Amino acid sequence: MPELPEVETMRIQLAKYLAGHKILAVEIRNRKTFQGDEKKIVGAKITGTRRFGKVSVIDLANGYSVLTHVKLTGQYIYRGPNLKNPSKLSAKVTGGIPGPHTLVIFNLDRGGVLYYNDVRRFGWIRIEKTEDVEKEKFIVKLGPEPLKDLTLEIFKSILSKSGRPIKIVLMDQTKMGGVGNIYANDALWLSKINPKTPAKELQNDKITELYKAIISVLKAGLKYGGASELAFVTPDGAEGEYQNHTLVYGHEGEPCERCHKSLIKKFFLGGRGTYFCPVCQV
Ligand SMILES: [Zn+2]
Repeated sequence: MPELPEVETMRIQLAKYLAGHKILAVEIRNRKTFQGDEKKIVGAKITGTRRFGKVSVIDLANGYSVLTHVKLTGQYIYRGPNLKNPSKLSAKVTGGIPGPHTLVIFNLDRGGVLYYNDVRRFGWIRIEKTEDVEKEKFIVKLGPEPLKDLTLEIFKSILSKSGRPIKIVLMDQTKMGGVGNIYANDALWLSKINPKTPAKELQNDKITELYKAIISVLKAGLKYGGASELAFVTPDGAEGEYQNHTLVYGHEGEPCERCHKSLIKKFFLGGRGTYFCPVCQV
């Protein structure tokens, strides 16, 4: 599932490509994907984008906003005058645009089009009044975000209150927003912490290392435009590159690049693939 760097990359590109466009029509090919009355956004000018955890928000000048959670396989792809020479469409855009997996099409002025594709159809788009966006239950519940408002002090306090495995706590969106499986794996390897360690058992210096590691891997993710390991593509139709730069995620059976004393092992924790070095991460 896309995590903070992927959704933030998407938000940045959407801001760039949608700036100044007006929505002329909305074609909904799968009603379950789209919640709310699309007529409310027809004719409205796009003013900007925001992100809350893994939810991206497109704000409109008429007091409405378009919220999107792409879940596992949702993709926004833009074509139009604000993207002069789009690169070749990623093969991860199954069926192309528009294609059998295109569920919503936003027709914009000046010949622009924003496609929403979603093979698994778990993602959702919701129309809401802009003033109500921050009252959304999942946004109210969202924990503080690394790179934004998660300070080391808050981080320490969150960990001290949980006996659950540290990796599960990192991925709990109500504890902190935006960290999912790929970056949790990499941050734990970077700070030499076993993913199963109960959060409250971590010593202060380890917590500080982990805090820095989270920031470091998220920044690397952003630098590479996110990870296109599954279906993630950027709104220009290309792919992120972080999947080629992961530290431990996806490296099962390969030698640990730090200690060279063990192969990376994989097991499942809370149902998610968990990678670690049994020598460095004890
Ligand atoms: Zn190692």
